Amino acid sequence: MKKYLILWFFAVILLPLNAADLPAPAKPVKYVFLFIGDGMSLPQRMLTREYLNRMGKEDLRINRLPVHGITTTHCSNSLITDSAAAGTAIACGTKTNSGVLGLDSAGKHLESVAEVARNEGRRVGIVTSVSIDHATPAAFYAHNPGRGNYYAIGLELIAAKFDFFGGGNFLGPDGKDGSLYELAARAGYKVIRDKAAFEALKPGEAKFTLALTPVTYAIDSGKDQISLAEYTAKAIAMLDNPNGFFLMVEGGRIDWACHANDAATVLQEVITFDQAVEVACNFVQAHPGDALLVVTGDHETGALTLGFAGTGYSSFLERLQYQKVSYEKFGAILQKLRDSGNKSFDNVKPLITGYFGLKFDGAPSDPMLLAPHEQARIKTAFERYMGAPYTAAEPESVLYGIYNPLCVTLTHILANKSGIGWNSFAHTALPVSTTAFGKTAEQFSGMNDNTDIAKRLKPLVARLQQP
Ligand SMILES: [Zn+2]
Repeated sequence: MKKYLILWFFAVILLPLNAADLPAPAKPVKYVFLFIGDGMSLPQRMLTREYLNRMGKEDLRINRLPVHGITTTHCSNSLITDSAAAGTAIACGTKTNSGVLGLDSAGKHLESVAEVARNEGRRVGIVTSVSIDHATPAAFYAHNPGRGNYYAIGLELIAAKFDFFGGGNFLGPDGKDGSLYELAARAGYKVIRDKAAFEALKPGEAKFTLALTPVTYAIDSGKDQISLAEYTAKAIAMLDNPNGFFLMVEGGRIDWACHANDAATVLQEVITFDQAVEVACNFVQAHPGDALLVVTGDHETGALTLGFAGTGYSSFLERLQYQKVSYEKFGAILQKLRDSGNKSFDNVKPLITGYFGLKFDGAPSDPMLLAPHEQARIKTAFERYMGAPYTAAEPESVLYGIYNPLCVTLTHILANKSGIGWNSFAHTALPVSTTAFGKTAEQFSGMNDNTDIAKRLKPLVARLQQP
């Protein structure tokens, strides 16, 4: 009996310590993709999924991928992170304070997964739908205590010598050393500033590429704009090589539209982001065993809720289709009116109906007919916009944030008529969803922290071939 007890002891107590039970060191993966939907959590994904469903379309590709997990997003000094601290956590694997890029909360220099990949002989790409020096892309190449130090961040971009940068123009292109575009060209980057040159760019033509063009919201953009999917496809073509690559793609405008509480613009941004994910998915499918795709968000923005006090258990997301332009473009239309001295409310009513589907008169059964209290809210916001300059001071900041009072009132009313609501103009502490597909995807399931993403990706971008 005693003998069996001893055997049981060895079997139960000691076997788990056997080397065979320890996690094997992660093996490098040739192609590693990291997609970040800025401001994208489950509400943004589910809003878009249900809208597509109502329009008779297939769900987002992201939602159809096999592995899903939950990711916490707090930063060192706040439960609610900003994109700099969240980007640093995702890129480097260490928490830091809001506003800080690539440094920990004590100011210590951190190394991003993109820098590890470059140092291991891989090619590296950074793509975004906002300016290339914005917090999320910058977290992969910059080390600066202030996310707003755009010129210094641009100098770090040039010095990083990543192979492909694609996205929106520098926010602070000029400084003491001259134009960042000229400095990049002098440092060996092929600098591309328009779609024709972008389309003409061929693999092997340039070691380093900096392709920056004006980017607008998908709901407003024309064919002359380079889409996130086009940037992603070009990055893959330029980066592919025997040593593999690391490519980060950010859907940065999801966040901006959420800050403005503009649901119709948000869902078009999520769809555009998903089309870029689709390009990477197809590549991962074509390289089984050799590629990994991870899709995450850096935080939720806007406190978006799929439900509204005024619509109870019903939702009418299909009504978001009536909005034809973003809050930003409608704001520009209003500004023209204001600048022309045309301040009549009656003149703006047809524009509101045309661009948002909201009606001032019609059959009482028409769900898009504005109730008297809604018409009063719109008129108040219109008069506020046309009156003294709006400064976002209390108590109006709770109503309008930092936005055009009329635009935000219209997107709020359309959201409520669609059965959804917004409760903040800032980020929230809601965890995000992380999704993965391909080699070692399963390690991204379960409940994790945003720092775990970099911790898991860094061993995967290790050197494939000895130089
Ligand atoms: Zn934001």
